[in-house]
Order: sequence, then C-alpha cells, then structure tokens
Amino acid sequence: MKEFDYIIIGGGCAGLSLAYELEIQEKLKDKTLAIIEPRQEYKKDKTWSFWKVTPHNFDDCVKKSWESFTINIPGKTNYLECKNYPYQSIDSGLFYEKINNKLKGNKNISFFKDITEISKKNSFIFNSVPEIKKSHLNLWQHFCGVEIETKNNFFDEEIFNLMDFDCEQRESVHFFYTLPYSKKKALVETTWLSKMNDNSQKDYDEQIKNYIEKHLKIKNYEITYKEEGAIPLFYPSYKKEKNKINIGTAGGMTRLSTGYTFLNIQEHCKFIRENIENISNTKKYEISKKYQFLDDIFLRVLDKHPEEMSNIFFNMFKTSPKTVIKFLSNKSNYLEDLNIILKMPKWMFIKALFY
Ligand SMILES: Cc1cc2nc3c(=O)[nH]c(=O)nc-3n(C[C@H](O)[C@H](O)[C@H](O)COP(=O)(O)OP(=O)(O)OC[C@H]3O[C@@H](n4cnc5c(N)ncnc54)[C@H](O)[C@@H]3O)c2cc1C
Repeated sequence: MKEFDYIIIGGGCAGLSLAYELEIQEKLKDKTLAIIEPRQEYKKDKTWSFWKVTPHNFDDCVKKSWESFTINIPGKTNYLECKNYPYQSIDSGLFYEKINNKLKGNKNISFFKDITEISKKNSFIFNSVPEIKKSHLNLWQHFCGVEIETKNNFFDEEIFNLMDFDCEQRESVHFFYTLPYSKKKALVETTWLSKMNDNSQKDYDEQIKNYIEKHLKIKNYEITYKEEGAIPLFYPSYKKEKNKINIGTAGGMTRLSTGYTFLNIQEHCKFIRENIENISNTKKYEISKKYQFLDDIFLRVLDKHPEEMSNIFFNMFKTSPKTVIKFLSNKSNYLEDLNIILKMPKWMFIKALFY
C-alpha cells in the first residue's frame, strides 16, 4: 500500500486550509500528502464569517465585508462600528474551488475517499474528524440559515445584524442573525444555544418563515440556498497520540462562547506550517487558557440562566466594539478583558465558579 509523509483526514475547512498553507509556502515540494475526504463533490455548504483581526489566505473568497453592525433585544438596538476589524463572510464554494485548483498542480498531493486505501504506518497525521460522544449535558450552537432574494429593495447592505433577541426564547437562548449581501439578498439564520434536548427548537423552517414574513415583514421573496449545522460548545475528546495532531473543530479551534472557528483554524495552520520540519516535537497549539477559563464560566452561566443571556450579550457590547471584538476573537489584553468582565452581572459569574 502506498505511503505518504503526511496524511490529512477530512478535506473540509481545516484540512484544506492546512494543505493550502503547506503548498503555498512550498512545504510539499519534496514531501507527499494524502487527503482523505469521503464527499463526492465540493459545493458551497457553509458561510464562514468572522471579524478579520488577523490576515488570512482567503480574502479573494470573501463574499461581502461590513464595517457596522447591530445587536438588539426587544425595544433596544445598539449600533456599532467595526472599521478596524471588518466582519467578513467567506463563501465556502469559492474557498473549495480556489484550494482544489491550487492543489491539483502538485503531483505530490493525492485525494482518497477512505483511509483504508493507504498505509498510515510511517506518516504524520493531521486529523479533522472529531470524536463526539453524545451526551444530553453538552451545549451546542445549532442553527439553520437561508439565503433569500427579495423582489424589491429591502436590506441596508452596509450594516449586518449580529444578534436579534427579539424572538421566542423557549427557556433557552435564541437569536436571529442577518447578513445583507445586497439590497435584495441576505442570509437569515435562526440560532440556538442549547443542549438540543428540546426538538421543538428544530422547527427551523417555521422559525425562519415567521421571522421573514411577520418580523421583517417581507412578503415577496425566494429561498436560494440553505445551510444547517451544529457547533459543539465543548471540546471533543482528545487522546494524545504520537505522530498525530487534531485540527479544526476536532483540534479544539472553536471559541466555546461564540462558535467562531474559521480564523482560529487559519492561525493553527500557520503554526503547523512554521513548525512542520519538527512537527512531532512541537507543543500542542490551543486557544489561550485565559479564554478557555472565561468561556467555561460564561457557559455555566448560560446553562443556569438562559433567560439572562440576551441582556448579558447586549450589555457586553456596551463596551467599545473594538474591545469586544478583540475579546471574542482571542486578541484582547488584560485591561480589555477586565472591561468586558465588569459588564457582566458579578454575582452570577462569581457563583458560577462554584457550580
Ligand atoms: C453550517 C456551518 C456554518 C458555520 N459558520 C461559521 C462561521 O460563520 N464562522 C466560524 O468561525 N465558524 C463557523 N462554523 C464552524 C466551523 O468554522 C466549521 O464547522 C468548519 O467547517 C470547521 O472545520 P473542520 O475542518 O473542523 O470541519 P469540516 O469543515 O466539517 O471538515 C471535516 C471534513 O471531514 C470529512 N469527513 C467526515 N467523516 C470523515 C471520515 N470518516 N474520514 C475522512 N473525512 C471525513 C467531512 O466530509 C468534511 O469535509 C460553521 C459550521 C457550520 C456547520
């Protein structure tokens, strides 16, 4: 059976980002790479959005970028600017196409559908397939989004809505998220932070229809695309194995308080590429312990007091948007952390330390 220097298990966001980073930085000139990916074809299946706090390789896959946004709770809206860190939306279709076109040009890179087709014996493995044990105690960010086209101009394409809590909470945390790509096109997403034990939260189509027709009051529209997903707000189990590194969601690249993963994946790939020559002896890359600790408390509060979360998120954004964005994107300093912490209901968070 054929052997490779490197194997990437899962050619999704993390697997392809890593292969691309290694390829463009010429780390695959005299090394072989196998990518294991079972999907039959690559097509747009996700929209990855984030505040651009660091450079990345995919500016040409950005579908739209915004410099202002809103967050709202019933009766109150906060308008915020993010000129320093624009919010970008990446079209996964363009991302897959760009990377696959580039990788095709290197005959050291091969794709396989199943790991059993090759030998793993002497390879270094990058694994992006998470092992997730089902538990009714785990929190998830689960959501469904549709892209719609309206007949008449409706959206203000300069400003996106990060969180609209003016909707049914069903003893959970629920908000809508709207990314206006143009005056007539937008992604409208219903998002829940919950343990997914209540199946009624999954009537996504009905929720979106009601929101578009009754809340936004759009009558004439067409759905052109749909995406659905669930991001684990816990770290997948991690077994330390020689010659293997987990990447992507499997590698703990999700910020647990927000679900943001894309930019952390890019930073992890850069770290791997910088250390590729000595990868077996390189220390584990992880989201800073400071954020792991703070997110753990945040999620304990969310679990105990879901009804408080809309106000907590809303108040968090009363700090300067630059500070909150840096905090949510793992780039804040201690003073900025303190500013965020001071906006939280103190007793609730202190008590959460002891749950
Ligand atoms: C719909 C959706 C929208 C998201 N939006 C955002 C966002 O806006 N911003 C953000 O920061 N994060 C977002 N995320 C979270 C995160 O960025 C994505 O989940 C991202 O795709 C994670 O990358 P990954 O490589 O870990 O997983 P994936 O991209 O899912 O890649 C895993 C790959 O493994 C393959 N695979 C599965 N089983 C096997 C197997 N047995 N062997 C080999 N390969 C296998 C799959 O086909 C897939 O291609 C979103 C997630 C989803 C699901």
